[in-house]
Amino acid sequence: MATLQNGYSKKKQLDVVVVGAGLVGSLEAVYLAKRGHRVRLYEFREDIRKTPTARGRSINLALSVRGRRALRDVGLEAHMVKEHGIPMTGRRIHRTDGSTYAIPYDANTKQSIYSVGRNYLNGLLLQESEKYENVERYFNHKLIEANLKKGSLTFLKTDTNETVHVTADLIIGADGAFSAVRKAMTKRPFFDFSQKYIEHGYLELCIPPDDNGGFQMPPNFLHIWPRGEFMMIALPNQDCSWTVTLFMPFTKFKNLDTEEKLLAFFEKYFPDSIPLIGRKKLIEDFFAESPSPLVAIKCRPYHVEDKALLIGDAAHAVVPFYGQGMNAGFEDCTLLDELFQKHNDSLAEILTEFSETRWEDTFAVSDLAMYNYIEMRDLVTRTSYRLRKAMDDF
Ligand code: FAD
Repeated sequence: MATLQNGYSKKKQLDVVVVGAGLVGSLEAVYLAKRGHRVRLYEFREDIRKTPTARGRSINLALSVRGRRALRDVGLEAHMVKEHGIPMTGRRIHRTDGSTYAIPYDANTKQSIYSVGRNYLNGLLLQESEKYENVERYFNHKLIEANLKKGSLTFLKTDTNETVHVTADLIIGADGAFSAVRKAMTKRPFFDFSQKYIEHGYLELCIPPDDNGGFQMPPNFLHIWPRGEFMMIALPNQDCSWTVTLFMPFTKFKNLDTEEKLLAFFEKYFPDSIPLIGRKKLIEDFFAESPSPLVAIKCRPYHVEDKALLIGDAAHAVVPFYGQGMNAGFEDCTLLDELFQKHNDSLAEILTEFSETRWEDTFAVSDLAMYNYIEMRDLVTRTSYRLRKAMDDF
C-alpha cells in the first residue's frame, strides 16, 4: 500500500461531492483531500473571497476548543488563533448606568475563546483546499434535485441557467440550516425532523474604531448588555471595530419604528453604547435591515445507506447563544475523519456509526444553546458567592 505525502495510506480513491462551501463544507473538503479522495465542492453563492461581507449573517464568531481541534488537524489552528483570532478571556457586563464588570471564562487556567471573522475563516479554508489537486470547486451551483440512494445530484448554474448532473460515491450535505440535501431525506421513512423558530430575532450593528484606529472598549472580552428579556452583545474585529448584535423579541423590534423611539430605547437600555456606535450610524444601521430569524433544527438519522450524510447546520442548526454552531460542525468533520480511519474508508460503517453516535451530543448542544439565551440575557447578572469571588480575583 503506497503512502501519501501527508502520511495517509493510499487506498481506493472515493469520489465525494460536498454540497455547500460554507465553513463546514470547506473544512470537510480539506479533511477528505488529505485522505487522498477526489472531492468536488459545489456552492450556491459565488466564491466568498470575491464578495464583500454580507449583512444579515454574523460577521464574526467565537471559536472554541472543538473548532480549534479541527483547524489543528488541517494545519490552520496556529494561524487562526495567533494571527487572526482575538482572545476573549471572559464576559464584560455593561450595566444600564454605563459601568462594567468582568466575569472570567476560566479563572484558573485562563483559557479563552477567540473572535474570528466568518468570511476570513471561510476564505482561508477554501484557499487551503486549493493546495490539493484532488479538490475541485464549483461556485454559483445550486443543488435543485437529489436522488441520494443513487448518489446523483442536479445543480442549476445560477450564472448561465444551465443544469448539471453529477454522481458520486458519497454525497455530503453541508448546505446549512435550509439544506436541500436534507430536504431530499425528509421523504424517506423513519427520518425524524423538527424545526423551531424562536420568537426572538437579531440585528447587527457596529462600533467603529476610535479616531486613532484603536478599540473603543477593552478588546479581550465578549461584551454583554443583559436586559432580562433581551440583550446586546459585541465581539471584537481585527480592524478594531466591534460587531454588535441585538437579540430581542420581534414584537419589540417592530415597535421601534421611528428614529425617536429607537434613540429613546437605546438611551434607556444601552446608553453607554450610543457614543460608541454614534447616533447617526445607529439610526442608519438599525433601519438598513430587518431583524433576522433564528431557527433550531434537529433530525436523524444523518445518513442514507452508504451514499449520503448531513453535517454542520444541515444536520443540527442551533440558536447562536452558546457560540457552538460552527464549532459543533467542525467537530463533525473531526469525528468523521476518525471514522474514516477506524473503518478503513468503508462508507456503510462510517455513516452508520456517525449517525448513531452523533445525534445525542448535537441534541444536547441545541438544548444548551436555548438555555444559554436566558443565562446571557438575564441570569448572568445574578451572581452566586463563588462566581463573585472569581470575578473579584480576575
Ligand atoms: P452555512 O454556514 O450555512 O453554509 C452552508 C453553505 O451551503 C452556504 O455557503 C450556502 O450558500 C450553501 N448552500 C445552501 N443551499 C445550497 C444549495 N441548494 N446548493 C448549494 N449550496 C448551498 N457558531 C459558533 O460556533 N460560534 C459563534 O460565535 C456563532 N455565532 C453565530 C451568530 C449568529 C448570529 C448566527 C446566526 C450563527 C452563529 N453561529 C456561531 C453558528 C454558525 O454560523 C453556523 O453553525 C455555521 O455557519 C454552520 O456552518 P455550515 O457550513 O454548516 O452552514
